[in-house]
Amino acid sequence: MTAQPQQPAPGSESSPIPTSIFTEMTELARRTGAVNLGQGVPELDGPEQLLRDVADAVLAGHNQYPPAYGLPELRQAVAAHQRRRYGLALDPDGEVLVTTGATEALAAALLALTGPGDEVLTLDPCYDAYPAGARLSGATLTTAPLAMDGDSFSLDPDALRAAVTPRTRVLLLNTPHNPTGAVFTLAELTAVAELCVERDLTVITDEVYEHLVYDDTPHIPLATLPGMRERTLTVSSAGKTFNVTGWKVGWISGPAHLVAAVTSVKQFLTYASGTPYQAALARALDGVEDWAAGLRATLRGNRELLSTGLTTAGLRPWRAEAGYFLQADVRPWGFDDGHRFCRELPGIAGVVAIPTSAFRQGPDPAPWLVRFSFCRRPESLSRAADRLTAAARPR
Ligand SMILES: *Cc1c(COP(=O)(O)O)cnc(C)c1O
Repeated sequence: MTAQPQQPAPGSESSPIPTSIFTEMTELARRTGAVNLGQGVPELDGPEQLLRDVADAVLAGHNQYPPAYGLPELRQAVAAHQRRRYGLALDPDGEVLVTTGATEALAAALLALTGPGDEVLTLDPCYDAYPAGARLSGATLTTAPLAMDGDSFSLDPDALRAAVTPRTRVLLLNTPHNPTGAVFTLAELTAVAELCVERDLTVITDEVYEHLVYDDTPHIPLATLPGMRERTLTVSSAGKTFNVTGWKVGWISGPAHLVAAVTSVKQFLTYASGTPYQAALARALDGVEDWAAGLRATLRGNRELLSTGLTTAGLRPWRAEAGYFLQADVRPWGFDDGHRFCRELPGIAGVVAIPTSAFRQGPDPAPWLVRFSFCRRPESLSRAADRLTAAARPR
């Protein structure tokens, strides 16, 4: 991929959006032949039956616009999934909307629910679509830092409470969390739910890693907690669950009045998309548990491979209970600045990673953390580990 010419940001013609760190690092990996552990693009493929079902759907002529809400069979599969896994009852007609990936669901929800003068509160660090989405809607993104406990991150309810102001319109919560790999506990989420009820906040939760939890803390949708169903929009997507990030099929669910507001925006973003994918995913989602158990086993093994490789190379991996990424402390190699480490790493070791500080909105207490992805083939992770070990030396 070549760098795009810089375009003015919407609503601020004079301030161009700089090239993202993902573009910069992906380009660096391409130019140098480095092993790319930067962006979270799976090197693994989806379930074979799902791939065949999409091919069949295309050949059977399911190639025109689906209904604006999405194909009924996928909305039913999403509702069945939420009921079966979490005990959440949803009406597939009106409480579930299929979107062009989780990204569109997030953007449409922020555009529908917030505007200039409103604040969108999220945790810091956070996924890069959140500041961009808030900016599109004209709202201000505010953040509460995650707490750092030894070698992992946790949610600090006091910091979250302190960040709520009279202008806070939406809490944007992400669990399992990218980039940290934290899975928030029942105690943490209970404190969040109490705060949302007390301050009458609407919540958007991004749960795209709901099936990729490797350790003991179970994934709990915030919508299942007392007082939350009526104020929460839950977002998920097929991309991470089925290794089909290029298909961009996501969904958002919640109370009918909130889903209707999101739909009214979504119909003029894309209207609707992905008919053959939606048809095939309806069937795959009904059987997701078997597939996800195998995928978790693969990714758990990958996490181990990468973690061992980083440790052998003298870096200090942090704990990650879920998702695609490990953070590592790069100070043992003599770097205090993850950005500089990541710019030099392709030259030193032939590996590309992303500085965790790229996900920071506020002050960064840990600029020496670097994010490595493990959603790659085991051979790629072994190659990266060998290269890192060969390059390892305190400097
Ligand atoms: C990958 C990712 C998304 C984007 O999901 P799509 O379905 O590809 O749009 C959203 N949120 C988080 C936290 C992600 O990691």
